[in-house]
Amino acid sequence: MKRFTRFTRLTTLSALLLAAGLNAGTAQAQLAPAAATTAPASAQSEARKANIVIIGTGGTIAGAGASATNTAAYQSAVVPVDKIIASVPEISKVANVKGEQIFQIGSESFNNERLLKLGKRVSELLKQPDVDGIVITHGTDTIEETAYFLNLTLKSDKPVVVVGSMRPGTALGADGALNLYDAVLVASNPDSRGKGTLVVLNDEIHTGRDVTKSNTFKTETFRSPFGPLGYVVEGRTLFFRLPARPHTMQTEFDIDKLDKLPEVAIVYAYGNVNPASVDAAVKNGAKAIVFAATGNGSVGDYMVEPLKAARAKGVQIVRASRTGSGVVIRNAEQPDDKYDWIVTDDQLPQKARILMALALTKTNDPKELQKILWKY
Ligand code: ASP
Repeated sequence: MKRFTRFTRLTTLSALLLAAGLNAGTAQAQLAPAAATTAPASAQSEARKANIVIIGTGGTIAGAGASATNTAAYQSAVVPVDKIIASVPEISKVANVKGEQIFQIGSESFNNERLLKLGKRVSELLKQPDVDGIVITHGTDTIEETAYFLNLTLKSDKPVVVVGSMRPGTALGADGALNLYDAVLVASNPDSRGKGTLVVLNDEIHTGRDVTKSNTFKTETFRSPFGPLGYVVEGRTLFFRLPARPHTMQTEFDIDKLDKLPEVAIVYAYGNVNPASVDAAVKNGAKAIVFAATGNGSVGDYMVEPLKAARAKGVQIVRASRTGSGVVIRNAEQPDDKYDWIVTDDQLPQKARILMALALTKTNDPKELQKILWKY
């Protein structure tokens, strides 16, 4: 990747500020506090435009429909990231950006290998002194899994923002351009440092830990059970909350040291769920099964024995809930101590799958695994 052309000038500026005992972010805030709170982003960032790499992975934000009225039926992952960037010229007023295409896929096609490849590339870029932040354009279907994974494994406090859109760029009311502009604003803002991997869509900034997609087609599909961390409005990045759980620099997981993720399966509960799905996961080499149970992690009477049998074979059993929010209480619906099972905290099954895969790279002791699930 080409280096940013303005890096030399910025380094000189940083060196001067450092000599004065300031870093570029705080200096900017201290030198122009009034402007920073009232001026539009373009004015704020003239003094020091951040260098942002935009990594393209596909999704609807790279999608195109047959007509402008196709808001929900279209082909995703067809427009190259450089073309997406060029379609939002306002971005160049707030940051120096470079595009890099790593995949061109719908996010439903993410798997462990692709996740690791993306994470390692992001980590590599974050280590470059001339990169201030990363934006990842991503399909919305699994944005929450990628963002949680990066939130847990990147070792940098530079901003990383994952962004998508619900409508393709060809649609009436397309949301991708503003979402991308907002994502670049957030990634460029020194206030976004040290907050873990963020997800920006629909004027909101979410933590990658909590955010989830809740609707198949609406632009206001993303929600966090405890609310977003902040808003992006009129070119301003406004934070109101901080992520409470450890992330990035504070975790025991390091993307640079991960070469493979253990297989973790999710078995979805429903009336008449087939116990054979547990056996299939075991036969397929699952090291853990996240049981997306009903309610507070309740397990049907005919499912208890198959799950106990899987545990007897060494497979970890994690009770999660398919309800969409809330914590699963240990030893409430099932005697977890007795069965040597684990419960999720409030992680949705798909997020518990990510965390368990990472946790299993550290330990196979269910007590330790339980602590990890309660910690992150
Ligand atoms: N299927 C698409 C994807 O996740 C949907 C989207 O991006 O909104 O890639």
